[in-house]
Amino acid sequence: MRITEIFSSIQGEGPFMGVPSFFVRLAGCNLRCGWCDTPQSSWTPVGKEMSIAEILQKVAESRMKTVVVTGGEPFLQAEFPELCDALMAAGLSVHLETSGTIFREVSADLVCVSPKLSGSAPDPLKFPELYAKHERARLSPETLSQFVRYFGKRLVFKFVVASKTDVHEVKALLNQLDFTDTAQVFLMPQSRTAEELRDLAPMVAGFCVESGFRYSDRLHVRLWGNTPGR
Ligand code: SF4
Repeated sequence: MRITEIFSSIQGEGPFMGVPSFFVRLAGCNLRCGWCDTPQSSWTPVGKEMSIAEILQKVAESRMKTVVVTGGEPFLQAEFPELCDALMAAGLSVHLETSGTIFREVSADLVCVSPKLSGSAPDPLKFPELYAKHERARLSPETLSQFVRYFGKRLVFKFVVASKTDVHEVKALLNQLDFTDTAQVFLMPQSRTAEELRDLAPMVAGFCVESGFRYSDRLHVRLWGNTPGR
């Protein structure tokens, strides 16, 4: 499999924020978000080939009990289901992170789906072709419905937001999906630096108080900034 980075840290986002975890970041993404915080796995993907056996060995050496498989877009890689099966068979708690644009039936304890809102697009003047590709692929309610049906209570939504308009978009999408459990929905400040996070977090927390959605911080960004391997 093509791996951008593999490392131990703490989960900085979502329902397991603060849990020591082993991260497997797969290379490659079908989107090009303008604010992407891991361009090394999307815009300019780098990485090395590792077998599933080598990944399992690294996880075992880490002694972590929770493994987060992220990207990029992990659902892109052919061996992804096999990797999930192997991690589950090893007795690990397996958490996946995806944009929810490509569905496959895979084994996992938690799937964190982060649909991309209209503000995620890259600059259309600088990157017209990538902009068009991103807009075609970024949101598929049909695919999101497949995720909801298959993963049920093992799914959470995590939306990156920066404005009230974004929250309206979130509500419209959830209505379209007929998804009503606000306890499974997180709003997270759009931020790549600790300064941006600090500035936006109070407003996003306010959106959560108004809407009943849960707030997700970005603890790793607070602690280390946007540093690869953290
Ligand atoms: S889906 Fe995620 S990894 Fe891909 S470009 Fe968007 S933010 Fe980056």
